[in-house]
Amino acid sequence: MRLAVLGIMHETNTFSNIPTDDRAFAEAAFGGRHGDLLGDEVREVYGDVGITVAGFMDADADPGVSVVPIGWAATGPGGPLPTSTFDRITAAQLARLEAEGPFDGILLGQHGAMVVEGHPDGDAEFIRRVRAAVGPRVPIGNVMDTHGNVSPAQVHGVDITLLWRTNPHLDCRARGLQCARLIAQAVRGEIQPVQAIVNPPLVANILAQNTADEPMRGLLAQALDLTAAMPGLLDASVGEGFPYADVPHMGMAAVVVADRDQAAAQAAARALALRIWEQREAFDPHGVSVADAVRLERGDAAGPVVLLDCGDNMGAGTPGDSTFILEGLLRERRTGWLLTVHDPEAVLACVRAGVGGTVRLRVGGKIDGLHGTPQPITGRVRTISDGKFRAHDKHVHGGHKAFDGGVTAVVQTDAGGTLVLTTLAVLTMSLDQHYSIGIDPARFDLIVAKGVMSPQPAYGVIASRMVYVDTPGISTANPRFLGHQHRRRPMFPFEQDTRWP
Ligand SMILES: [Zn+2]
Repeated sequence: MRLAVLGIMHETNTFSNIPTDDRAFAEAAFGGRHGDLLGDEVREVYGDVGITVAGFMDADADPGVSVVPIGWAATGPGGPLPTSTFDRITAAQLARLEAEGPFDGILLGQHGAMVVEGHPDGDAEFIRRVRAAVGPRVPIGNVMDTHGNVSPAQVHGVDITLLWRTNPHLDCRARGLQCARLIAQAVRGEIQPVQAIVNPPLVANILAQNTADEPMRGLLAQALDLTAAMPGLLDASVGEGFPYADVPHMGMAAVVVADRDQAAAQAAARALALRIWEQREAFDPHGVSVADAVRLERGDAAGPVVLLDCGDNMGAGTPGDSTFILEGLLRERRTGWLLTVHDPEAVLACVRAGVGGTVRLRVGGKIDGLHGTPQPITGRVRTISDGKFRAHDKHVHGGHKAFDGGVTAVVQTDAGGTLVLTTLAVLTMSLDQHYSIGIDPARFDLIVAKGVMSPQPAYGVIASRMVYVDTPGISTANPRFLGHQHRRRPMFPFEQDTRWP
């Protein structure tokens, strides 16, 4: 049998002004290549990495199965796809599907949080076009991210839906292979998959999405127990939801695949959804408020307190110029802090003043108007450097090595803190960022890092304590800050008194 692999994988933050256009796909450096691949390029770039489509292609080794990569497009998180970009990529993949067909089964590697202009449920629209191309009888399997917004339209447009069960994601390839094998069984007539989805009205806060921690850990264990206990169930998934997409289907999901028995699938999905709902308070943890965070004292501790600026998580596509914590530090008249801000204009003013010169700056809060207001700073320029550094320590998220912040100025502020101003948006996730410009971060009382997970490996080495700070911003850990217009109402945690079922 011949199975075709295709898909568009995108995590769309509808609050982001980063474009996800043709250029974003052309320049996306996933695997060192552009992000919009066709045919054997998919195997060359992704054949041996830990993602869904690699798992699909692993099924090629199974007897009697031939897996044909048709196309796969992916790029970094950003705003909605323009219709023209979505249409172009989809049409190219479908043309190739037709030219290389017919196929006995289809394997899709979607994300579940793709938004296209004119199609709030971009994944469902892609699925709809694939189904229209292959007809109603060809089994389609779809594997998606743990934290997409899984909708009935996505699930019922295909025959088998599996979600990854890990976040951070470690089982993507295994889930891909599992899906390919189930589709192969369906093609042979060994199973007749039916599905059910139940969407309880809540979304998981990003701080509650780690599958190694409760409540996800327990829920996923229950999903496995349910699958084992009920004969005929093939798979059960828990979708965490993606709060940064302002769409009606944003939220959590219970998805179950059964063999022939629709009633069993429905009962299991409902049982799982009820368990999700029972845990709703645990899905709404709170970070520390800015007001409380800027009052934290290092005291006699062996290392600084590291404040994680959740709303300006640069790894999720934010500008890196948030000033909510800086404003709090200034208001509280704190000293001994170290904070990095992406602000090319302020760097230029420092370059003009020169090392040793005095500067009067308005720092940060300039790029998109969503991350605080520019803060008045006076101080002395301590150093100016080219901002390039290599991470020498082992403790860097994702194993990244080479960083470039562009021209970088260090300002000793009259307020008693140290500001690192960068020309380019560079992630604060290596201590070498500071060592390379003559700063020993371990000596500070408070350090601000812009991120949620990515700063932790590096800063964890010196920190006495790391604190999630509940800042506004387009990556906020507190979905109430986002100002959704299109979500369902009522919905938890927005409406705390939401009743369900
Ligand atoms: Zn993900």
